[in-house]
Amino acid sequence: MDIIHLLPDSVANQIAAGEVIQRPASCLKELVENSLDAGAKHVDIIVTDAGRTLLQVVDNGMGMSPTDARMAFERHATSKISKAADLFNLHTMGFRGEALPSVAAVAQVEVLTRRRDDEVGTLLRIEGSRVVEQNEAQCPAGTNFKVKNLFFNTPARRRFLKTNSTELRNIINEFYRIVLVNPDVHFTFTSDGELLFDLPASSLKQRIDNVFGKSSRKSFASQLVDVKAETAVVSIYGYIGTPESATKQPQQYFFVNGRYMRHPYFHKAVLTSFAGMLAPEQQPHYFIYLSLNPELIDVNIHPTKTEIKFADEQMIWQILLAALRESLGKFNITPSLDFDREGDLDIPSSVNINPDNVHAPEVRVNQQYNPFNVNHTSNPAGWEKLYQPVAHSIVSAASDTLPETDLPTVSEQALFPADISLAQPSQYKERYILLPSADGLLFLDQHRAHAAVLYRQLREQISSKKGVMQQVLFPEVLDLSAEDSALLLQMKDELRSAGFEITQIARNSFSVDGVPAELGNSNPLRVLLDILHAVSETGVTTREQWEHRIALALSEAAAIPAGKTLQEDEMRDLVERFAALQDTSYSAEGKRIYALLSDSEIKKMF
Ligand code: ADP
Ligand code: MG
Repeated sequence: MDIIHLLPDSVANQIAAGEVIQRPASCLKELVENSLDAGAKHVDIIVTDAGRTLLQVVDNGMGMSPTDARMAFERHATSKISKAADLFNLHTMGFRGEALPSVAAVAQVEVLTRRRDDEVGTLLRIEGSRVVEQNEAQCPAGTNFKVKNLFFNTPARRRFLKTNSTELRNIINEFYRIVLVNPDVHFTFTSDGELLFDLPASSLKQRIDNVFGKSSRKSFASQLVDVKAETAVVSIYGYIGTPESATKQPQQYFFVNGRYMRHPYFHKAVLTSFAGMLAPEQQPHYFIYLSLNPELIDVNIHPTKTEIKFADEQMIWQILLAALRESLGKFNITPSLDFDREGDLDIPSSVNINPDNVHAPEVRVNQQYNPFNVNHTSNPAGWEKLYQPVAHSIVSAASDTLPETDLPTVSEQALFPADISLAQPSQYKERYILLPSADGLLFLDQHRAHAAVLYRQLREQISSKKGVMQQVLFPEVLDLSAEDSALLLQMKDELRSAGFEITQIARNSFSVDGVPAELGNSNPLRVLLDILHAVSETGVTTREQWEHRIALALSEAAAIPAGKTLQEDEMRDLVERFAALQDTSYSAEGKRIYALLSDSEIKKMF
C-alpha cells in the first residue's frame, strides 16, 4: 500500500504559520505592512492583552474586491509579484502571499473591506482556515482586519508566549520599525483602551521626535545630527545622536529601501565613527536610511529575518563611515582627527578573514589631511591614492572633501622594528603608544596591539582546550531566538574551550555560569551575542572558523580600550608581548595596528 499523501491545506498553513507568525508582534507586522502596500495613509492599530485577545488594523488603503478578499487567504496568493524576476525588484513589503493564510490558520480572523469605487463592501470570517462567513457589508473604504484569539487552536504555541509586558514590548518595537520609515502615514496605536501613540503625518525628524521625544526632557530631535551621502552605489540619509546623548539604551535603526534591517557590520561602522567619544557601555542613537538599487540587495532570506544581504557590503561600509565622520565633523563633534585617518582603511571582516592572508594594502596615509576642513582644493587623484581600497565609484560622492597631497605621510612598516626604544614610552591621546626607533617615531594602537596579543593567546587556549574559566557569582540568563540557540548548542565545545560555562535552562534560554578569565569586567552576554551574530552573519560552519570568531570577540572585548591611561610599565609590558608575536602589522580583522612616521618625513615638516 502506498503511504505518501498531500497534507490538507489547513495543516500545511499551520506549519507555515510556525515560520511566519511566531508571536503577536509578527502578526501585527504582516497586517500593517499589507496596509502600507495597499497605499494606506491612515492606519489605526488596536491591541488587547498584548495581542492575545485582539489585534486589529484599520486602514484607508485600496481595499479588496469580494473575490480578492477570499483569494487573499489562499496559500501563495499575492497581488504583488507574478514572476520570479519580480523577486529581485521588490517595491512592496509583502510578496510571499503567506501571511494571511498563516494568520487564518492559527486565529479567528474577521475582515471588512471595500474598494473606494464599490458601493458595498465584504465581510469575511475565517477560523482555523475554515471560512465561516462571507457576506456583503456596509463599511468605510479600506480594510479593517481583526485577528482574535491568536493560537487558539495551537495551545503549545499559545503557552510559548511570554508575559503581556514582553509581548507588548515586542509589538511596540515592531511598530517603531514601521512608523520610522513611513513618516507620511498617520498612525495611532491603542493598547487595552489606552491611546499610546498618535503620530500624524510629518517630516522624518518630527516623526522621530513624536515617537521618542516624550521620554526625554530635552527635545529628542535637537540631539540629532544629519547624515547624508549620495553616491552611485547607495544613498544614505538619516540622523545620528550627538555623543552627549549616547545612553545604555540607545535607539538604533537601520533601514534599507524602506525596510528595517539588523546589520552588525554597519553598526560597527557607526561605533567606529564615534570611537573615543563615548563612555564605556554607552552607545549613540542612530536612524540611518540606505537606498539602493533593489537588485543589489537580497531580502528574500526568511519571512521573519531582519538580516539583509548586500552585493557590496564593504564599499557601503566605507561610504557610511565617511558620511558619519563628515557629519560628526561638520557639527564640531569630533575632537580632532589626527591619526584617525587610518580608520578609513579598516577592512570590515564581513567574510572570515584568514589573518595569514591579509595583505597590507598599499596606502599612503596623509595624516595632516582633515576631511572636515571643507576649504581645501579638489584633487581626485589624491583622494584615490588616499583611499585605495575603496573602489572608484565613491570618488564622486566624496569629491567635495578632497585632501591636499605632498604632505608628510605615515608609511607602512612591514616588520615590527626590533630597535624601538622602551626607555621612556609615552602615550598619545590615550590611544597610541609612542615609541622612538632608529627610523622614526612609531605609533602603536594600544587597543589593537593588546587585542592581537589576546587573540593569539586565545586561539592557542581554545585549540588546546586550556581556556581559563571563572565562575560567576550571579549567573546571567541569555534568551535567544531558536536559530541562535541551535547555533550556541553547536558551538558549545568551542565556547567551553574558551572558558564559557553555559547551561541550557529552557528551550531557548541559557544560564552563563562561567566566563573566560580574560573577560574581566566586560559583559559576557554581549560577547556571546557578538559571537553568535558574527557566526550567523558570515555563515561560517567549521570549528576553526568558530574558534577564530570566539577568539576575535573575546579579544575585542577584553583588550585595553582606547582612552585608557597606561603606566610606563604597562606600556612596556604590552609592547614586549606584542613584539613577540609573529605576524604583527594587521589585526585578525585586518586593521592596521601600528604605523611609523619616518625620520625623513619628520624632517620634511620643518
Ligand atoms: P503578500 O503581502 O505577500 O502579498 P499576504 O498574505 O500578506 O501576502 O496578503 C495577500 C494579498 O491580500 C495581498 O497581496 C493583497 O493583495 C491583499 N491584501 C492583504 N491585506 C490587504 C489590505 N490591508 N488592503 C488591501 N489588500 C490587502
Ligand atoms: Mg503581506
